[in-house]
Amino acid sequence: MSKVNLEMVSNSTFPENRDAMKITIMYRGIFHCADPWIYFPMEIEVSSYCPKCSGPRGKPEPILLKEQGEVFIVHYWDNPCGHRDQYEDLFFEYQNRLKKTV
Ligand SMILES: [Zn+2]
Repeated sequence: MSKVNLEMVSNSTFPENRDAMKITIMYRGIFHCADPWIYFPMEIEVSSYCPKCSGPRGKPEPILLKEQGEVFIVHYWDNPCGHRDQYEDLFFEYQNRLKKTV
């Protein structure tokens, strides 16, 4: 009986919708060895947890990113665990998530 109760507690602590977060990153052509002058903001969904240590990721905050005089709004955050998320890594994490759900 106690085992069942423990499972219920862990489920309520980590509901499914907290497992992923929607963020806007700056996509760059160089992620695919393509034209470095290709870049645009892109909304993607990634895990709420750090892929390196599984600790929770930080809270995404919108920031202004300046590129060649143009201003874009993208998300930025600091992970409590200290690992830094790069937009390139996040882009490929998103690609892998899409492959898994197909
Ligand atoms: Zn980490």
